[in-house]
This record gives sequence, structure tokens and C-alpha cells, in this order.
Amino acid sequence: MDSLDILTNAEHIIPYFQAVYSADEQTVIGYEILGRIKVDQKVESMGPFFLDDSVPEEYKIEMDDLVLKKALEKVLENQENVLLFVNRDADLLMIDQGESFLSLLKEFQGKGLKLNRVVLEMTEHTFKGDFTRLQHMLTYLRTYGIKLSIENAGQESSNLDRIGKLSPEILKIGLQPLITTSPDQAYHNVLHSISLLARKIGATILYEDIEVDFQLQYAWKTGGRYFQGFYLSRPNPEFLEQNVLKEKLAAEFHHFIQREKRKIETFQRAAADFSQRIQSLMAKNKKLSGQYDNLIKELAEDLSDCSFRIYICNEDGFQQTGNIFKLENGWVTQPEYYMKNWSWRPYFLENIIRMRTNKKGYFSDLYRDIETGETIRTFSFPIDEHLYLFIDLPYTYLYEQEGML
Ligand code: CA
Repeated sequence: MDSLDILTNAEHIIPYFQAVYSADEQTVIGYEILGRIKVDQKVESMGPFFLDDSVPEEYKIEMDDLVLKKALEKVLENQENVLLFVNRDADLLMIDQGESFLSLLKEFQGKGLKLNRVVLEMTEHTFKGDFTRLQHMLTYLRTYGIKLSIENAGQESSNLDRIGKLSPEILKIGLQPLITTSPDQAYHNVLHSISLLARKIGATILYEDIEVDFQLQYAWKTGGRYFQGFYLSRPNPEFLEQNVLKEKLAAEFHHFIQREKRKIETFQRAAADFSQRIQSLMAKNKKLSGQYDNLIKELAEDLSDCSFRIYICNEDGFQQTGNIFKLENGWVTQPEYYMKNWSWRPYFLENIIRMRTNKKGYFSDLYRDIETGETIRTFSFPIDEHLYLFIDLPYTYLYEQEGML
């Protein structure tokens, strides 16, 4: 349908509602309002109209308002007590500093709509205007209780600094790339950074475009509290019963939880076995106590199957040995690492204290080694109260083990 035909057929516009579910209650906690238009008994999305650059801005605003008006009438009729996600283009909102949007909402506030149920949904990275003015407008809208959701977080040129400044209540992340392409580690790393940012700024993560079960599992596993997508509910002109998916979601979560617990148990068993192995090697090499460079040489021979770098630090992170490092044709010593300090690395001191308190060794998370560029884990082990052994395990070894990746 031609964009301008939308204007002449405005009476056929129907708001659709796509349910948003919560992980904690497994119920519908809100709906995203979507513009649809009925043409010849067929319902079409108004998305192309809103994205059409040839459509004058005032027409887009008019249609945006009409969809919202019709949606809010329906909401009030049904007395739905849920969040309402309202899509708005930030540049269009800024034309009148959000005034017409706010006055429409206030009109419905007079009819009983609570404005703290309204979630303004915007994309941050397509905004072309003055960011400070946008920030001021959003601050103003939020004095009315209106919430903010940033869409497409983690895509294209998302700017973590700007997202941090806007401090939205909700960060919306599309999981489409999980099925359309097979995303590389970089994609997962970006999502991980966003989930850390969300935690720091107190934002809730909403994963959308969930179309198959493994996306739901991914969403659940990576800190998603809210979920949306065809796998759960398609956009619909009517509201759903709040508990419509409660049993299905609870059952799926049960599987996810079982699988995850098994994985954690496998990993912990592997850690315990590895710890045992190191303990017996330490006992075997007791005679080398005090000669730490010789000790790591001995250990390297015994750990050739699973390690590529070994060294010993004191409790403050100063290396008390050089490195012993495995090249293709054998181990080499790297004395230049003696007295290097690693206390600045994330979790380093927490890890030392944990080892000292619990008197046992631990695996680090998976991370990329700065020197080799490889994804590795480090196993650290307390020799005594003051000395700690570090063993780096290469990707090839982790890959062959169960539950190590
Ligand atoms: Ca949206």
C-alpha cells in the first residue's frame, strides 16, 4: 500500500498489541503498541509508512498519535493494568519538545490512565538532533512517571556512553542475529557489556524478536527479565489473559534451570578433579619447596597436556618466578616476567582472598589472553598463605573437556 493511501484510509487503522512477558512472574506485564491498517480484508503493518523518508513529518506524527489514541481507548475500555510500550521517533518528538505527545497522554490521564504505565520506546543510535536537548525533554517527560526504553541496544552504532546518560528503565535488545546470521564471539561480548551496563544503571533488559526456543533460553541465561517475540505471542488486536503462558514458561524455565545446573555441576567436578591433580603434583615436588622457578619447570613437564603458561605470584600479585611458556617445540623460560604485578587485573585480589580463605584452587571465567589472543581459562591454586600458582589452559584443551567452554 502506498504511504499516502494510509492517510486517506486512516479510519481503518487498528492498533495491535504484542505481549511482553516477565521471567519472574511468567505473566504478561505489558504490550508494545503497533500500528496496523486493514486493506481489502488484509491487515498490513504501518512500519514501512513510518520508515518512508518521503512522508512529511507532520503526517507521521498525526498517524503516530492516531494509533496511540485508538490503543489507549482500548486500554481504558479493558482496564488493562499493564505497561504500554509506545514507539516514537526521537527526532519527531523533538519537533515540539514532546509537547503534543504529552498533551495526548494527559488527555487520557484525565480519563483514568496512569502515566507511570507508559513506556516511551526510542532508538538512541538513529537520533540526529541535539543530544542534550533530548535529554532535557526526556527528563521532563519522566517527571510525569513516563518510563524510557531504548530499542536496538547493542546494534549498529549503539553508544554505551549515551545509553548510560539516558539511564533508561528498560533496554531492549533484538535477538534476530542469533538465527539470521551465526554471530561471532564479538556479538556475545557486546551483549555481555550491555547486560553489565544495565546492571550498573539499574535498567531491565527486554529481549525481543524471540522466535525459537533457543533464543528464549539465551534471553533467560543472559540476564533478560522481559521477553517478547513470535515464539511467545504474535501481535494481536486483543489483549491476552495475563497467565496465558504461565505454565509453558514455567516448564521451559524448568528445563533451562536443569540444563544449567547440570552444566555447573560438570564444571565444578572438572575443577575438583583438576585441583586434585595439582595437589598431588605439589606433593610429588615437595623437595622443590622454595625453588619456585624449578618447581614451575617440573610442573610444566607434568602439565604439558593441558597448559601453555605457568607462574607463581605472591599475595599482592607480584610474580615470584618468571613465566614458563610452551612453544611448539617445548617449554621456554621467560625470566623477564619476574616481579611483574597483576593486582590491577579484574577479580585478581578477590580471587587471592577466596583461595586463601577456602584453601582451594579455582578456574577463572573464559577470557581472551592479551598476548596470545586465544580464549582461555586460568586455574589458580594456593601453595601456601603467601604464594599462588597460576596455570593458563589453552582453548584446544578446554574444547576437549566436558563443560569447560
Ligand atoms: Ca519497538
